[in-house]
Amino acid sequence: MRYNFTVRKWWVWILVLHFPAVLLAVSPQKTIASTRVTPELRASLTADYLIDVVVSPHDGDAWTRLAKRVTGDAERWQEIAAFNNAGDNLTSEQRVRVPLALLRPELQRQIVATLFPRDQLTDSGWRHVIVGGAGVEGESLWNIAEWFTGRGENYAAIREANSNQGLSTHSGDVILIPRELLTAAFGGEAEGRNAPKTAEARKTENDPDERPTADANVADATLEVSPAGLPSLTYERGAAEPFAVYRLQKGEALYSSVAIRFTGRVYAKDVGEVLGRIEKFNGIDDVARMPVGYPVKIPMELLLPEYRPADDPTRIANEATKRESAKLARRTRATGLAGVRVILDAGHGGRDVGTLHDGVSESSVVYDVMCRLKKILEKRSAATVSATRDDRELFTSPRYDLDEDPVVGVNLRWYLVNSLFRRSIKSGTAREKVVFISIHADSLHPSIRGAMVYIPGERYVTGSYEKSGKVYFARAEVREAPVVKHSEKESLVAEGLSRDLAESIIDEFESHHLEVHPFNPVRDNVVRDGNEWVPAVIRYNLVPTRLLLEVCNLGNRRDRELMKTKEQRQKIAEAVYAGLVDFYDEREDGPVVAASR
Ligand SMILES: [Zn+2]
Repeated sequence: MRYNFTVRKWWVWILVLHFPAVLLAVSPQKTIASTRVTPELRASLTADYLIDVVVSPHDGDAWTRLAKRVTGDAERWQEIAAFNNAGDNLTSEQRVRVPLALLRPELQRQIVATLFPRDQLTDSGWRHVIVGGAGVEGESLWNIAEWFTGRGENYAAIREANSNQGLSTHSGDVILIPRELLTAAFGGEAEGRNAPKTAEARKTENDPDERPTADANVADATLEVSPAGLPSLTYERGAAEPFAVYRLQKGEALYSSVAIRFTGRVYAKDVGEVLGRIEKFNGIDDVARMPVGYPVKIPMELLLPEYRPADDPTRIANEATKRESAKLARRTRATGLAGVRVILDAGHGGRDVGTLHDGVSESSVVYDVMCRLKKILEKRSAATVSATRDDRELFTSPRYDLDEDPVVGVNLRWYLVNSLFRRSIKSGTAREKVVFISIHADSLHPSIRGAMVYIPGERYVTGSYEKSGKVYFARAEVREAPVVKHSEKESLVAEGLSRDLAESIIDEFESHHLEVHPFNPVRDNVVRDGNEWVPAVIRYNLVPTRLLLEVCNLGNRRDRELMKTKEQRQKIAEAVYAGLVDFYDEREDGPVVAASR
């Protein structure tokens, strides 16, 4: 590496680059470009090539609330207040400046996409096209390093990667920021200043929406899909029916890349309905002939919470629950699953075959997977394992014949599990060491492949519930405790622990080269026919760490063919086992930063 710039330039650099706040404070900036990112947030590229982000507080806002909205973390308020030389009180007249690097990654991306419209992501990294001004120097390598890598010091590495580039830049120059230097906001893995500080690090790392998809990798010619595969939406909130706009990428289809991804619909009928609505809303008559870049308008109310604007109340509430549940969920370590109690449930059974495609019945394949998993656990781990059923009966006392009512069969399952849970606790097992896994196979839109996990979303698990009737009270498990109740705290803990286990299992599916649902492999509710709920077997269940695993989509031909083979079913059992081991192995108490995928 050679540094052949002058001392004088160094000096100027240090002055300009290390005191941006001072410069902002003393001089009203001329701007090169400016954009309103959300109704409250405006970003500008100043004549000094600084990205100036200004937030207008809401009426009655507080520092913590503002910090949470724009950075994702309420605790960052002090950093922001200090940056503004402000006191503890925030008024709606104040204009609050926020360093770009502190913003939520998606806001950073949106700002950069607008201020630098010619930038793009390529396989080797981020290509930044210098905006500059006519005849004068453009934005400095230091600035570029700060924006995209989170550290100005990386300018040297950037320079090395652009061997023909002098230290100064001029309008139209193209600077490559190598992929390994990029922060998560721009698709890399470098720790930016917005890097999560706590347990949610794991969540963000594994955020299903940020998983790169094949489609996203193809779409490197524009900024609409971010490097990390997180698609970028713009919002039109003033419209009679507010909507988001998504630009179709190369190789993307409306049903998968828009309907399935952004609205969370997975059942064929629901996907069809949503698609029809989107077509009508956009006045599209030929779906097959939509050009790349077509701006698809999606009615806001159809969007999953995570795709709504950063200040949308549903999204904020959703994120708050995730954060809270992650905080409360304290895993315990159990090497080799010592002292762990695993309760396995194969879905359906008896006359309830579950979904049936081309002669492949859900109940029989999932029973087979369950038996394989049980065997592995008994052979290789120190866990105690029990199952809820064999191929004919449920193991209540007395047993329940699965050729009878399937609905009763489901309800007796959670009564049985709750009874097993109580017994485990009584015999001294820690609550966190009991696990419940219900194994199913999906019947979704035929285009979708792979595994998906449902966990009990806190907001769906409230109040108390009981069943009455002879068939129930004939069983010891029901008489023992007919009413099931969850406190809010229990539901939060359950969501957090269950999400962690679900992510461990999904990670292991990927490591075992098993197909995983492309958009949202971990879900806290089912969406179907316009309703949202948590499946009964985990909804009324008391085991804190519990989930329903859909091992594949039997509605997809490829998944179905594979599922017919012993090898595939064994591989799935191995992946679930590995997920369980990881979950109890990875950490003791407290937060952990997950290893990268
Ligand atoms: Zn099922």
